[in-house]
Amino acid sequence: MTGSLTIVGLGPGAADQVTGAASQALAVATDIVGYGPYVDRVPERAGQQRHRTDNREEIDRARHALEMAAEGRHVAVVSSGDPGVFAMAAAVFEAVETGEAAWRALDISVVPGISAMFAAASRLGAPLGHDFCAISLSDNLKPWDLVLKRLRAAAEGDFVIALYNAASKARPRHLGEALELLRGIKGPDVPVIFATAISRADEAIEITTLGEADAARADMRTLVMIGSSATRLVARPGARPFVYTPRRVDGQVP
Ligand code: SAH
Repeated sequence: MTGSLTIVGLGPGAADQVTGAASQALAVATDIVGYGPYVDRVPERAGQQRHRTDNREEIDRARHALEMAAEGRHVAVVSSGDPGVFAMAAAVFEAVETGEAAWRALDISVVPGISAMFAAASRLGAPLGHDFCAISLSDNLKPWDLVLKRLRAAAEGDFVIALYNAASKARPRHLGEALELLRGIKGPDVPVIFATAISRADEAIEITTLGEADAARADMRTLVMIGSSATRLVARPGARPFVYTPRRVDGQVP
């Protein structure tokens, strides 16, 4: 029997933000593999096996999934958001590249999901309407100095910046340091958004500025977005302002 491995994005949390293709891939899988809380988001099906693993064991999880697919099973590896954004798809391909030659012949596919930055942007208006970049603040897999270098380059390029893994208990000072660096280059007035648990019951959004931003507002479920010099707020009566970045930049490069 020929197996398969599908890496599926579950979106930011809400069931109605799971794509039809993702639901379909989950429905036909014999095995669901992933970090426990993500596996718990997959509707249960009789006969389907669930393999819940720890968050830090990505490469072992990827190998296990590949082994099962090689045995003929139909395996779905699940990630939150999009599986290609700081998530399991790259871990699977790393395992394929360094693992058994036979794995390269497997039927492997990726089903996209709504990444946290897009889910957050949709709540705000259109903050990603012009050039932007995404940076993970986690230094589990890269040196912190490289994070700072990329932040500096992104700020100097005047990109809108989406920060993933902005805060964790293991790294209490990183976000503060990052915001300070960005403030030094972008100045205090650019908008900053703390978007927490987007699409979930306890969703929270705070719109502030780099000058006022308090790193303590972020937790593990927060995406932090820092505007470009062009990002603006449109005030509304009795409601949160819209945040958007115009599509056009005219004139001189600042
Ligand atoms: N693959 C995921 C990102 C995984 S990294 C994606 O595409 O969204 C985990 C980080 O994503 C978190 O630390 C947080 O910064 C962000 N994140 C994930 N879900 C989120 C949500 N519902 N709301 C806000 N940020 C979220």
